Amino acid sequence: MTTVRDPLDRALGAKTAKPLSDAFGLQTVGDLLRHYPRRYATRGELTELSSLREGEHVTVLVKVVLAQRRPNGNRRGDRLEVTVTDGRARLTLTFFHRAGLYQKILRPEAVGLFAGTVSSFRGRRQLVHPECEMLPETSGPGLAAEIAADYATELIPVYPASAKIASWKIARAVQTVLDPLDAGEDPLPKELRRRHGLRGLAEAIRAIHRPLDVDDYRRARIRLKWDEAFVLQAALAQRRHAAAAMPATPRPPESGGLAGAFDARLPFRLTDGQCAAGETISADLACAFPMHRLLQGEVGSGKTVIAVRAMLQVIDAGGQAALLAPTEVLAQQHFRSITAMLGPFGQAGRLGGAEHATRVALLTGSQGVAARRAALTDVFTGDAGIVIGTHALLEEHVRFSDLGLIVIDEQHRFGVEQRDALREKAPGGRPHVLVMTATPIPRTVAMTVYGDLEVSTLTELPAGRSPIVTHVVPAADKPRFVERAWERVREEAARGRQAYVVCPRVGGTDAGEPDDDGSETGLDDPGAAGGDAAEGNGGQADGRRPPLAVLDMAPALQNGALAGLRLAALHGRMPADEKERVMRAFTEGDLDVLVATTVIEVGVDVPNATVMVVMDADRFGVSQLHQLRGRVGRGTAEGLCLLVTEAEPDTPARERLDAVAATGDGFILSRLDLEQRREGDVLGAAQAGRRSSLKLLSLLSDEDLIREAREEAAAVVAGDPDLARHPGLSVAIGDLLGPQRAEFLDKT
Ligand code: ADP
Ligand code: MG
Repeated sequence: MTTVRDPLDRALGAKTAKPLSDAFGLQTVGDLLRHYPRRYATRGELTELSSLREGEHVTVLVKVVLAQRRPNGNRRGDRLEVTVTDGRARLTLTFFHRAGLYQKILRPEAVGLFAGTVSSFRGRRQLVHPECEMLPETSGPGLAAEIAADYATELIPVYPASAKIASWKIARAVQTVLDPLDAGEDPLPKELRRRHGLRGLAEAIRAIHRPLDVDDYRRARIRLKWDEAFVLQAALAQRRHAAAAMPATPRPPESGGLAGAFDARLPFRLTDGQCAAGETISADLACAFPMHRLLQGEVGSGKTVIAVRAMLQVIDAGGQAALLAPTEVLAQQHFRSITAMLGPFGQAGRLGGAEHATRVALLTGSQGVAARRAALTDVFTGDAGIVIGTHALLEEHVRFSDLGLIVIDEQHRFGVEQRDALREKAPGGRPHVLVMTATPIPRTVAMTVYGDLEVSTLTELPAGRSPIVTHVVPAADKPRFVERAWERVREEAARGRQAYVVCPRVGGTDAGEPDDDGSETGLDDPGAAGGDAAEGNGGQADGRRPPLAVLDMAPALQNGALAGLRLAALHGRMPADEKERVMRAFTEGDLDVLVATTVIEVGVDVPNATVMVVMDADRFGVSQLHQLRGRVGRGTAEGLCLLVTEAEPDTPARERLDAVAATGDGFILSRLDLEQRREGDVLGAAQAGRRSSLKLLSLLSDEDLIREAREEAAAVVAGDPDLARHPGLSVAIGDLLGPQRAEFLDKT
C-alpha cells in the first residue's frame, strides 16, 4: 500500500525518484500525483508540428514517414535521419548512435511519442536523439507487450516533462504509485460532494492521470479544483475565525474629540464611498475583537483621509495608531501631509498646539540619532498618538504605550509576517488592522490572497479630479514624437507645472543590483513582477539594450532636451536625507522635473505635477504603469502620461501599452496583468512563504467555483472550528500550510 506521504524514492526507487526531484522538486507520492498532465494526446490525432518553437522541450505524437542512414561528414560511421509527420508538417529526428537499433523500431507508418528539445539544422527543425516510445499496435517487436497496458485507452497523458525525464516515464511512475494507492481521508465532506456532484478523491486522482474519456478527466479536474479552492478557503476561514475570537480593546467614536475636529477642518466633502468606508471602519473599531480590513481604492481615491480619521478615533479612545509605509519617501510624505492635515491638532505641547492635541512621530531607518531618540520616547510614553514609519517600526526596541490600530499602506509590499510582527507590539489585546492598497485586485484574487480580510472598496474618485490622458510614444518608428514629448514637458513647465520622467533603472556602477526602491525595505517587490523594471541589470540576457537609467537620463536631459529647466534625480539608492531634500524641493515647486525610478510609484502626491514621461515603458508591468501614472492629474489640471517605447507595433509589449493607454480602469488592467503572469507568482508573492498550491484552479476563470467553495468552507469552519469532525480537511490544510504556517495559524 502506498500513501500520499510516502517518499518517492521508497515508492519508485532512487533511479526514478531522482530526476523527478531534480526537474520538478517532487518528493512525495502526493507531489507526484499533483503533477498533473499538461494535456492529453488522443490516439490517432497527431501533434501539430507547425506550432513547435526552437529551444522548446516538447513531447510529440507523430507518425514515421521514412528512416534513412546517411554518412556522417567528418565523423566516422553514419547517422539515422527519420522524417516524421503530423499529416501536414514534417520534422526530422536525428540519431548519431545506435542507428541500427532505432532503424528497426522506427519503421514507416509507426506511431510514437518523441521527446526532445527543438533545434534547427539547415533551416529545418529537428530533434536530436529524442527519447521515444512507440505505441503498441504499430511498434516494432519487443517493446509492444511491455507497454501495451499503459495505453489501453484513447487518451495519452502528456506531462510537463524535461530533458531529465520523459513524459511517458512520468506516466509510468504515476501508474506505479496509483495501483497500490490509499488516497486517505477525503478533504471534501461527503455532503458537500453530494450537493455539488463531485466524485471521490481516489477516483478523481485516477481519472486525471488515466482518463477513460474526455468526460472522465473533465469531471476529475472539477473535483480537484474544488480541493484547491476549498482547502485554501477553509484555512482562511479558520484564520478569520481564530482572529475573531481574539480580544481587542474596543475604540468606539467619541463626540467632541479629535476625529470630529478633523472632520470640521477638512477642506473638501468626503465622497459617498469615503463616508461608507469610514462608517464601516468606525464600527469595526468599536468591536471587542480586532478589525482586519482591506481598504481598496484607485490611486487618488482618498484612502489616507479615511485612515487618518480612523487613527483619530483610536486616539480619542485613549490608544495609539501606527502607519506603516513601504518606503522612506512615502513615510516622509505621509508625515508631512498628515501633520499638515491635522494642523494645531497634531502639535500637542508645542506652540500653537490645540487643546486635546496629539503628536505625530516619524520613525525611519536612516534618521539621525537625536530625532530617533525623541521619536522613540514619544512613542513609548504615548505622547505620539500617530506613529509613521517604514519597516523600522517593526524593530524590537520600538515600544508603544497602547497600540490600538495598525494601518498598512500599499499592502502589496508587505507580507503576512510583517503584519504579525507589528501586532506583537500590542501585548494583551490584538490591535485593529487596516490595510490599504491602490492595486486593484480582481474579486477572486482578493478572496484568495487577502482571504482573511474583510474588504471595503472606494469606487469613485473625488469630484473635480481631472482625467489622465495617456499616449504611447513609439520611439522606434516615430522619433519625432519623442521630441514632441519633451516639448510638452517644457510647455507645462512654462505654465508653472511640473513633470516626472521615469526610468526602469538607476544606472551608474550598479550592474546587477536591484534598483527598485522596494529594496530599501529589504522586501521583494512583487509590484514590479509584471515587467523587467525591478531587474535593474545592466546586462540583458535577452540581447536587448539595457533599460534606460536615471543617472544617464538626468544629465542627458539637463544638457539637451530640457536644458534650462530645474531638474533633479531621485532613486532608491540615494541616502534618505538626500531623497527627502529632493522630494521636498519638488513638492514645494523648487524643481520642474524629477527624473526618477519607480521610487515614486506609490503614494507620492504632488498636485502640481501634470506630465509623466515613462521611458522604456514596455519594461514595466501593466498595473505598475497604471500606478505610476496616478502620480499626475492629482490636482485640478488634466494629467498627461506619455509611454515611450521602442517596442514595434503589433508586438505583445506594444499591445500591453496600448491597453494601458486605452483604459483608466485599474480593474481591467489588473486582470490583464494577471493573465500575463503565472498565477502562482501572484499568490506566492502575496502569501509570503506559503507554497503555491494552485495547480488547476484559475483565479480568473473559476470565479464561481471559488465563491461557492468560500461559502462552503466558512459554513464548515463555523460548525466545526477545530475540524475535529473533518480529519481529511484538517490534514489537507496542514499539508497546504506546512509546519511553520500551521504554527502561525495557531498563534493568530
Ligand atoms: P490615495 O487613495 O491614493 O492614498 P489620497 O488619500 O492620497 O489618495 O488622496 C489624494 C488627494 O485627494 C489628497 O490630496 C487628498 O487630500 C485629496 N482628497 C481626498 N479625499 C478627497 C475628497 N473627498 N475631495 C477632494 N479631495 C480629496
Ligand atoms: Mg495613498
